[in-house]
Formats: sequence, structure tokens, C-alpha cells
Amino acid sequence: MKKLLSSLLIISSLLTTGCFFKQQSYQDTRFLMDTIITISVTGKDQAAIKNATDEAFIAFKEVEDETDRYKSHKPRDLYALNQHNGQGPFIVGDHLYKLLLMYKEQPYTALDLSLGPIIDVWRTHGETKTVPSLEEIKTALAKCGRDKFSLDTTNHTVTLTAGSNLDLGAIAKGYAVDYAASVITKNKAVTSALINAGGNIKVIGTKANGKPWRIGIQDPRNPQEILGILEMKNGQAIATSGDYQRYYEVNGVRYCHILDPATGQPARNAISTTVVSSSALTADFFSTLLFVLPHEEAISVVKNTPQIEAIIVNPKGEIYVSPGLRNTFTKEK
Ligand code: AMP
Ligand code: MG
Repeated sequence: MKKLLSSLLIISSLLTTGCFFKQQSYQDTRFLMDTIITISVTGKDQAAIKNATDEAFIAFKEVEDETDRYKSHKPRDLYALNQHNGQGPFIVGDHLYKLLLMYKEQPYTALDLSLGPIIDVWRTHGETKTVPSLEEIKTALAKCGRDKFSLDTTNHTVTLTAGSNLDLGAIAKGYAVDYAASVITKNKAVTSALINAGGNIKVIGTKANGKPWRIGIQDPRNPQEILGILEMKNGQAIATSGDYQRYYEVNGVRYCHILDPATGQPARNAISTTVVSSSALTADFFSTLLFVLPHEEAISVVKNTPQIEAIIVNPKGEIYVSPGLRNTFTKEK
């Protein structure tokens, strides 16, 4: 599928190399979790902030190793769990367990971590730009569903039914951003940081000039341009899901990477959903969930979830901005 690696543009990062009132800056970019990750840090000591950045990348690698379903990394990872389907309880690593537990505790069905089989069908068809038959979709969907896996909270094991396959693409990057941010903030030399994992962003502190971070929200139908700019405070995270990020087209119809678990078809209720929260995991989770839900239902979830604020663009191009963002989001057009 066509892949656009970063879904958000950082309008003004202070973190170019150099000094600002004796503050040192450091920035590094690496490819992990199937996306480009940039970590920018300022602080008092160059060696210490480089060290904080390196440690944050190690945190990303740790999460990648446990949540990548395409490649084996270690004995208790997602790849191994999926291989173990139909064979009873399986002990998984701590990051993976935490993510699955969090997922099981929430009530929503439009975000479904068991969609591996149907995601694979669309991924294969994406390579040849074809559309799966209804029969193929039905067969794959039969292997998906929240009831296809269970957790044993005493022994920290996960049991998958035969043929099922978990995919954590909707939430793993957000979780990793929070984890990397916690690693960075432990380093007392750091005064501010911005972590951007392909549009899953978290900010720590303010810019060196004391002004808020400003993040550009991409225009989903013209991704080189922005819909508007969002100001972000210390500790805030943001995530965007969009049908322009990974998709392919057949006969002028767009098939994007986010699927509706009810039908097995690409979700078409939104074209872009952005969520702001103090947790990058929460932002990642809800941006995908809101993308699948019908527009009015998505707005109602936002209104009933105090931890999040959101910007939702529906297929007509109408933009909903939740009340909590009306002072911090400035529309470009
Ligand atoms: P995101 O970019 O965070 O919205 O996550 C999209 C990714 O999550 C896709 O590439 C799939 O790996 C996976 N996915 C697609 N549809 C769903 C869904 N309805 N529920 C959970 N995961 C999904
Ligand atoms: Mg997500």
C-alpha cells in the first residue's frame, strides 16, 4: 500500500542544533516500528541529552520487538503468540501484555486487535491493486473478533483460537511514544523534548523561547498543505489517522489501511481523525477508533471521553473541532 510516513508536520521545532541561552540541542532520526521516528531534545549537557535520546530509541526498539507481527524478534513476542494460535495459553512479554490488557478493558468494538487475517487479505490485494471478493472477506472475518483471544490475568498468558492473528498497528506506536517519553523525562538534564513517531507525537516542556509547540495538521485531501495549526502544552500527545496515509486505488476508489471490523471493508466514515490527550497511547487508540465510527457517534465518543479532544474531518470535508481545542487550533483555510 502507498505509504506516507509522517501524518503530521511540525511547524516550528526549536530543536535545531546549537545553543539558546546555554541550552544544548540534539536531534536524531531512525526507522523503527515501520515508521520514521525523530527525537529532538534540549537540555543543559550535550552528552546527557544525546544519552537520553539513545535510551529513548532503545525503548522504541523494545516495544517494536514485542509488537511486530511480521517478524520474530524474541520468544515472547507477538509473532510467537500468533504462531501459537489454537495451542493454548502463551506467556507474552510485559509490553505486549499491558497493551492487550488495556484493550480488553475498554468497551469499543470498532477498534479490534484481532483483525490480522482480514488486514492480510487487504495487504495482499494492495500489492496487486485488486479488490478481495466478498467470499475472501467473509472467510477472513470469520477468524477475527474480540472473542478470538482471552487473557489470564493471574498467569499473564494469552490464548488465541485456531486461525486467529493479532495486529497492534492501531496502538503500538502510541504506547511506544509514552514509554520513550518516560525514559527521556527520567533524565534530569533534559528540559524539553519532542518525540515524533510517524505522526504520533508527544511534547515535553515548552519551546526554548517559552512558547507552546505548534503542530500542523495535514489536509487529508492535499497532504502537502495543512488544515490548521494546533498548539500543544507540556506533556500533551497527538495522533492522526487518515485515509491518505496508506492506501491504494482501483478504478478511482480508495482503499485505505483502516478497516471496519463489522464489514471487513476499509472504513469510510472519516478521512482524517486527530486526537489530543496526555497519553500518546490514548491518542493513538482513539484516533483509529474515531476513524471507524459513524461521524455522529465519533463526536459523541469525544464528548463522553474527558481524556481526549479531537479534530474529525468527514468525507464531505466538514471539520469538527471539539470545544477543548477551539482556543488552541487555528484553521488555515
Ligand atoms: P492507525 O494508523 O493508528 O490508525 O492504525 C492503523 C493500523 O491499525 C492499520 O495499519 C492496521 O494495522 C490496524 N487496523 C486497521 N483497522 C483497524 C481496526 N478497525 N481496529 C484495530 N486495528 C486496525
Ligand atoms: Mg491509532
